[in-house]
Amino acid sequence: MDTKFIFVTGGVASSLGKGINASSIGRLLKCRGLKVFMQKFDPYINVDPGNMSPLQHGEVFVTDDGAETDLDLGHYERFIDENLNKYSSVTTGKVYLRVINKERNRQYNGATVQVIPHVTDEIKQALHDVAKYSGADVVITEIGGTVGDIESLPFLEAIRQFRRDIGYKNTMYIHNTLVPYIAASQELKTKPTQHSVKELRSLGINPDLIILRTEQPLNDSQRDKIALFCDVKKECVIEALDCEVLYEVPLMLAEQNIDELICKHFGLETQPLDLTMWVKMVEGIKGLKEKVRIALVGKYVALKDAYLSVYEALKHAGYANGVDVVTEAIDSGEINEHNAEEKLKGFQGIIVPGGFGERNIPGILASIKYAREQKIPYLGICFGMQLALIEFAQNVLGLKGANSTELDKDAELPLIDLKENGDSMRLGLYACSLLPGSKAQAIYGKDEIYERHRHRYEFNQKYLSLFADSSLVFSGLNEKENIIEMIELNDHPFFLACQFHPEFLSRPNREHPLFRAFINAALSR
Ligand code: GLN
Repeated sequence: MDTKFIFVTGGVASSLGKGINASSIGRLLKCRGLKVFMQKFDPYINVDPGNMSPLQHGEVFVTDDGAETDLDLGHYERFIDENLNKYSSVTTGKVYLRVINKERNRQYNGATVQVIPHVTDEIKQALHDVAKYSGADVVITEIGGTVGDIESLPFLEAIRQFRRDIGYKNTMYIHNTLVPYIAASQELKTKPTQHSVKELRSLGINPDLIILRTEQPLNDSQRDKIALFCDVKKECVIEALDCEVLYEVPLMLAEQNIDELICKHFGLETQPLDLTMWVKMVEGIKGLKEKVRIALVGKYVALKDAYLSVYEALKHAGYANGVDVVTEAIDSGEINEHNAEEKLKGFQGIIVPGGFGERNIPGILASIKYAREQKIPYLGICFGMQLALIEFAQNVLGLKGANSTELDKDAELPLIDLKENGDSMRLGLYACSLLPGSKAQAIYGKDEIYERHRHRYEFNQKYLSLFADSSLVFSGLNEKENIIEMIELNDHPFFLACQFHPEFLSRPNREHPLFRAFINAALSR
C-alpha cells in the first residue's frame, strides 16, 4: 500500500479547531504537490446527518455523489479544493448498519459478532476504501468527538490497529488539545494536555505530533514540558494561536514546519512547499476595508453553523470583489409585512438560504417581497427559490392560493409540489442548462453547469404558462428530468434564485459565480 494515513484526534474540549487544523495540513501537503484526500469519522449513531436538525448539528453538507455529510467536509473541501465523496463520511450508524446487514446475510460464518474485530474491521475497511477510491498519496482522517468519549472508542481502537496492520511509517497520529490561559496568574496550563495524551496512550495510541490551541504563545520551557510528558519530539509540539482569518491557519502551521515533519515521518520526497497563492489570498483578505452588509433571512439563524457554507461563500465572493462581506442573520420569525422595511432597509443585499417545513414562512415571503419591490439584490437558494416563486405568484400575478404542498398539503394552487418520483430527496450533482441571453448564462459564462442539490419539492411545470407575460424568467432547466433549476426577474437589478446549493462549490480562492455576481450587485447599491 502506498497511501499514507494521518489520524487527527482531539482532547480536552470540543471546538478547538481540529477540523481546521486537519484541513490546513491537507492544504500544506497539497502545496507540496501531494494528492490529498480527507475523511471524517463521526461517533454519532445517525447513519448520516441527513435527518439531524440544522439547529443541533449545523448544516448538512452535500457532496457531488449526493452523500449527506457533516459540515466538516465543507471545511475540508474549501481548504484542499478536492471534491470529496461518500467514502469521506463514516458514522457509527453507517458502520453498524453494514455490520448488521452482513450478519443478517450470514456473511460472518456463524461467528459471534463483536466490536472487536467486526466493527473495527468495518472501520478499517472504510480507510482502505477511501485510499482506493481516491488514489491519494495522503489520506487525512479526522476522528470526531474528544478522546475519552464512550462513542469514539471503536474508532480509536481501529486506528490503533491500523498502525499494526500497515506500519509505523505509513501512519501518523496528530492530537489536538487546548492550553488554557489563566488570566489571574497569567499562566498557560499544560496539565489538561498531559491528561488528554495520557488518556490517548491508555488506548494504545502514542501521538506523533501535538497541536495546542492557545490564546498566548508557548514558551520554550512549556514546549519542553509537553514534549517530555507526552513523549513527542520538541519540534512536534505545534502551537495553534487564535487567528484573525480562518485561512491563515495553514500559514501559521507551515511556519512551524509541520509539513516537513509529516513528510519526514512518512519518508515522502516532495517538491518544496509553494504557498505563493495562499499567502497572496490571505494578504488580500486581511487588507479588505470596504464593507458590504447582507441580510440572511432564515429559519435556523440561532446556530451560525446551520448556514456555514452560505456564510463562507458570501465571504469568498467578497474577497473576489475586494470587500469584506458582513452577513447578518435575521430570524424569519421576527419579520412580517409591517416591519420588513425597518428590519431590512440598511442592507445592500438579501439572501434566503435553504430550509424545510412550514414554520416562520410569512417573514421569508415578506423579505422577498421587500427585496423585489425595493430592487434590493436578492439571491434565493433552494427554499429561497421556491418561496420566491410563491411570493411572485401571490403578489404579482395575484394568485393568492399559490403555495407549496410542503407548507400546505391542500394548497389551492400547488405551485411547488413533490417531485414526480415521490418524496425521496434529490441529492448531489445534476446538470442545468442555462437560457441563452439570461442573466444566469451571462454570470456563469456557460450554457451548461453542474451544481449540488438537496431537495424534495420542485416547481410544478403545469403552471408555467401563468408566468408567460410576466417579468419572471425561467433561466435554468435540468433537461433530462425536466426540473426548473433557476429563475430570475428581468425588471430588477439582481433577483436570482436557484433550486440547487451553489454554496457547496465555493472556495476561498475560487469564489462561486452566483455569489460573486450577487455581492457585485450589492456593492453597486
Ligand atoms: N424544503 C424544500 C424541499 O425539500 C427546500 C429544500 C432546501 O432548501 N434544501 O424541496
